[in-house]
Amino acid sequence: MTSNQEKLISQDDFISSCIQEMSKAEVYLPFTISSRLKREAIEKLEIIKGEILKAKYDAINREEEKLANLMLALQCGVNSFISELNCILSLKEGIFRRAWDFLVDAQEYTVWSYRAAPYNKMLLSRYEDLLLLEKAYFPKMVYLSMGATVSNGKCSICGSLIDECDHLEGLPYMGRICQIVDYNVVNVNHIAMVDEPRDKRCILLSFSDEKKENMIDRFTKEPIGKIKPEDRLKQGLLTEGIMLRFAETLEIF
Ligand SMILES: [Zn+2]
Repeated sequence: MTSNQEKLISQDDFISSCIQEMSKAEVYLPFTISSRLKREAIEKLEIIKGEILKAKYDAINREEEKLANLMLALQCGVNSFISELNCILSLKEGIFRRAWDFLVDAQEYTVWSYRAAPYNKMLLSRYEDLLLLEKAYFPKMVYLSMGATVSNGKCSICGSLIDECDHLEGLPYMGRICQIVDYNVVNVNHIAMVDEPRDKRCILLSFSDEKKENMIDRFTKEPIGKIKPEDRLKQGLLTEGIMLRFAETLEIF
């Protein structure tokens, strides 16, 4: 056997062992499994993620782009399971907004994983399952979208202004997804409620009740605070929500 063949076999073994570890983690996803076991499953996945990252950086050093992208796909796959476990842990703790963000993270990681390298069809059905969790655990969300003028951002791959390089936003390059970074909001035009938001983390968090006495929590439907007399005179529904997130929190680089 040549050393190249040996290298390929050990790569295949590594990839299938990573997929196997993700399958093992699935056992701990159901709500009823204890928080202690969920945290242990997360710790194991973090160790595997460390090994994947090491393999990715080795591939980047050797300029093997296909392998680097495959490692990015595995990294996102593992992160998807870690995020889903964290979602259920947060639900158990009653921290619902955080649970929602983790669920959206889990959904997006499956999409990025598939875009980086479609190594496993398991991820497609997993995305469908994660959409169903929305309906199982959360009320129908009202999404917010902000119309704004933003300054030219930079390409996360090469650092040039985004319209001055050949990289395309959302595509993988040598183990990293191209993103637009370092842009500023110059001018806000409008805020709208939408069905298909760019970021599902931008949601309505609370709204006024019919008598405009209390603000009502979107997740629990419980009153969370009295409305000030001067605000009661304002026309229409009073709302509070997340309009824009500046920090990209997903590990897709
Ligand atoms: Zn670029």
